[in-house]
Amino acid sequence: MNERYDAIIIGAGVIGNAVSFELVKRGYKTLNIDANPVSGYGSTSASCAIIRVHYSTFDGCALAYESYHYWKNWKSYLDFEDESGLAKFIECGCMIYQTEQNDHLKKVIERAKELNIPHELWDPKKIREMLRIADTDQFGPVKSVDDKDFGNSSGLSLKGSVFFPTAGYVNDPQLSAHNLQRAGEAKGANFLFGKKVIDIIKENGRAAGVVLEDGEKIFSKTIVNVAGPHSMKINQMADVEKDMNIKTRALKVEVCHVPSPAGYNYENEGFVISDSDIGCYSRPEIGNNVLIGSEDPECDERIYVDPDNWDTNFSEQWKAQVLRQAQRYPDLPVTSESKGVVALYDVADDWIPIYDKSSLPGFYMAIGSSGNQYKNAPLAGIIMAELISSCENGVNHDSNPIKLYLKYIDREIDLGFYSRNRKINKESSMSVLG
Ligand SMILES: Cc1cc2nc3c(=O)[nH]c(=O)nc-3n(C[C@H](O)[C@H](O)[C@H](O)COP(=O)(O)OP(=O)(O)OC[C@H]3O[C@@H](n4cnc5c(N)ncnc54)[C@H](O)[C@@H]3O)c2cc1C
Repeated sequence: MNERYDAIIIGAGVIGNAVSFELVKRGYKTLNIDANPVSGYGSTSASCAIIRVHYSTFDGCALAYESYHYWKNWKSYLDFEDESGLAKFIECGCMIYQTEQNDHLKKVIERAKELNIPHELWDPKKIREMLRIADTDQFGPVKSVDDKDFGNSSGLSLKGSVFFPTAGYVNDPQLSAHNLQRAGEAKGANFLFGKKVIDIIKENGRAAGVVLEDGEKIFSKTIVNVAGPHSMKINQMADVEKDMNIKTRALKVEVCHVPSPAGYNYENEGFVISDSDIGCYSRPEIGNNVLIGSEDPECDERIYVDPDNWDTNFSEQWKAQVLRQAQRYPDLPVTSESKGVVALYDVADDWIPIYDKSSLPGFYMAIGSSGNQYKNAPLAGIIMAELISSCENGVNHDSNPIKLYLKYIDREIDLGFYSRNRKINKESSMSVLG
């Protein structure tokens, strides 16, 4: 391949493809390179693809609410019909229990008011009306399953919850990455699959291309690291990691799929739920299943791994999550066979992503998605395109951070929030909740 590109994007997941889609719209000649055989085969395919609009930080909330509108208007955003069909946004809403752990959602309610995000306060009676399989007793703080008090309610009721109707999940995250690929290709984007990047070429003090495992070199003056859980490896190749205040690591996670309690149509009646009282998030899953993920409670060990060498089997964690969820749904069947997904998050030190340049001119990164940036993929593409075009035109984003206008919610955000050199953000939940 002797062609030169304006930008090479390492990774063709949902964020990598959003980056090329946005760059190609600005006239860049792009190439996404992915070691996998098709788009969205990395952590994107494992994603629970929950689209929620609540975060603990203002910027997190604003970005998520803006992004919601892109999923809502997916077809018109893409401006192209994929022959495989379009991923669907199921807008079933999202309920968050008010607990001591989340300070009864004081901040979340404040942010929702500040950004005019529709929300409702539900008391335990209303929760049971809307979700008749739920026990609204308090079980927290979250315990290990071998704790003698595991499963015992405190005898108190939960205070209530906040329900956001403008939320839900995307039914097929891998397809959404494919949708972005096709929409990008229609505008001239290029893709190379089954090829692994093993080095970053530097010339005259800036990024100049990549070396593939088969020895081939491909040149471009702009390289974007969107390698998901392999992000730190690509940063090490570029020798930029040492200059970053916030770093990324691959974390093993397990997601459980279990049948709905008998007699309940979870697929049609359920919604997305965040339940810090039991340390689980959940949503309906096809086949009338309940999908259960972990909110990373303190009592659980965090298993950071080498993304090229890790145990891809379910562990005891699977059962712990199902048993925790069964506290809330007493009739939840606890199956003997572990079904669901074992995957990796690309976790940043403060669980907030890094959308930034680097110390190597021409080398950029959209990484550290920390299990919660699927929802923001379209905006991540827009952020990176704005960053790249501004920085390549001489803007010093480190000293004078770029601002981005969010057209749907009519707000401006400061992209310095996502800097690799920020101090650890203390407002973060330090978990998948961001
Ligand atoms: C289990 C799970 C549940 C999640 N649930 C949610 C959720 O409900 N809501 C939400 O908003 N977010 C969620 N996320 C996070 C979200 O899925 C990710 O943030 C998003 O998919 C990341 O997309 P990406 O394009 O950055 O990375 P990926 O999809 O991981 O793509 C990276 C690509 O880079 C390629 N690559 C890596 N190294 C190389 C190399 N050297 N050469 C060539 N190619 C390379 C890989 O093959 C891979 O395809 C979840 C993540 C996981 C794992």
